[in-house]
Amino acid sequence: MGVRKNTTRVKKVRILREDAKKNFIIWGLVLVLSLVAFFIFEYLLMPQINLKGKSTVVINYKEKYNEKGYEAEFLGDDISKDVKTSGKVNSKKLGTYEITYTVKAGIFKRKAVRKVIVKDITKPEITLVSKDDIYVCPGKKYEQEEYKATDNYDGDITKRVKVNEEEDKITYTVTDKAGNTESVSRKIIYKDITKPELALEGSGVTYIFVGDDYQEAGFNATDNCDGNLSENVKVEGSVNNDKVGEYTLKYTVSDKANNSTTVERKVVVSEKTNNGAVYLTFDDGPKQGTTNVILDILREEGVKATFFVTNGGPDELIKRIYDEGHTVALHTASHNYSVVYASVDAYFNDLYSVSDRVKRITGYEAKIIRFPGGSSNTVSRKYQVGIMSTLTKEVLNRGFRYFDWNISSGDAESGNHTASEITNNVTSSLSKNRANVVLMHDIKTYTRDALRDIIHYAKNNGYHFEKITMTTPMVTQRVNN
Ligand SMILES: [Zn+2]
Repeated sequence: MGVRKNTTRVKKVRILREDAKKNFIIWGLVLVLSLVAFFIFEYLLMPQINLKGKSTVVINYKEKYNEKGYEAEFLGDDISKDVKTSGKVNSKKLGTYEITYTVKAGIFKRKAVRKVIVKDITKPEITLVSKDDIYVCPGKKYEQEEYKATDNYDGDITKRVKVNEEEDKITYTVTDKAGNTESVSRKIIYKDITKPELALEGSGVTYIFVGDDYQEAGFNATDNCDGNLSENVKVEGSVNNDKVGEYTLKYTVSDKANNSTTVERKVVVSEKTNNGAVYLTFDDGPKQGTTNVILDILREEGVKATFFVTNGGPDELIKRIYDEGHTVALHTASHNYSVVYASVDAYFNDLYSVSDRVKRITGYEAKIIRFPGGSSNTVSRKYQVGIMSTLTKEVLNRGFRYFDWNISSGDAESGNHTASEITNNVTSSLSKNRANVVLMHDIKTYTRDALRDIIHYAKNNGYHFEKITMTTPMVTQRVNN
């Protein structure tokens, strides 16, 4: 009995197991078929949208959002043009934005979404007054320089700057609210690298006469670290006031760090009086037809003279003046009052132009000058009030010597003149009690024609001729502007 019962139970169990197997297979098939159906439906029968680019995009504050585009497809057809997008990105406002892409095909609809995150990802900027290394006087405290921090989004964030001062380094760090950090640093070097300043009182060129004492006008020396160093200035060189000549004094000062500065002063010792000397001076040339004849006469008479030249006339005549032993002096390049007296710079530009010309032709650096109209001219007032007062000092500072005249030949006065008139003007004014500086113009035919008579008169009456040099005592008129 027991055995039979057992057999029946075994059969039943077997049947149950086979049912379960069948069920499992059936449900498995259902599942697989559903999946296949789903995939067919989802990917073959439904419209598709593919976004180009990433589905989450991060852009910077104020950066323009650039849509990368999309593709849409339905049953193998391109339906990209049917896609409708909605949603906007305002990059001027931080946040997360969504752009929705929708496409319909028949009764089916497909949707895709792209996230655009607007974030401040730009580092702030730190501006230092000086980005270079800072040199600080040894033993002195470094004084904080100004700095500023700005951020593209937060604006001025100077208050957020953290300053870290180490012994020889200073670091500025700032982080904006979005967490972007910027850091700059510079070195602090405790060393004096700046030369002391050494300024001479009085003129850089001083003129004295033979026998006169040279008076030191003084000097001031200051250093950025050591302060007043005037007492440490060493003066080298000396002036022999018994002997006509040019002497150079050298002033040197060093600071504690051994930075040193040297400046020079020239002292010109000249003959006190040259009574009975005649300095023939010719302005406004050279000019072919007059200057060349004047040079012939001077050569024949064995007389040396001084020519205040401009940029006019041929180079050969300037070369001849120089080669024949006369003094080539400067009168300005343009001789145009409105140009040369417009400003100090304008004057020197014009003067250096004729100086360059003379140097190019002769190799000689002319330092003797005559102002157009003389230093006493008043015409310059029209162009710049007070300019003659400035220029008469400044030319000396720049190492020039200027000469006016004490005898005018009258050859520049308006109207026509005769040679004998010019001769009379000069000879009647000569004096043995002074140096005679005669103003003439080598561009005038009557001056050319008067020259030989003037020379003969002077020679016959005990005068001697000289050319102006750097040691000739300056003959100057009163400045009126
Ligand atoms: Zn002139």
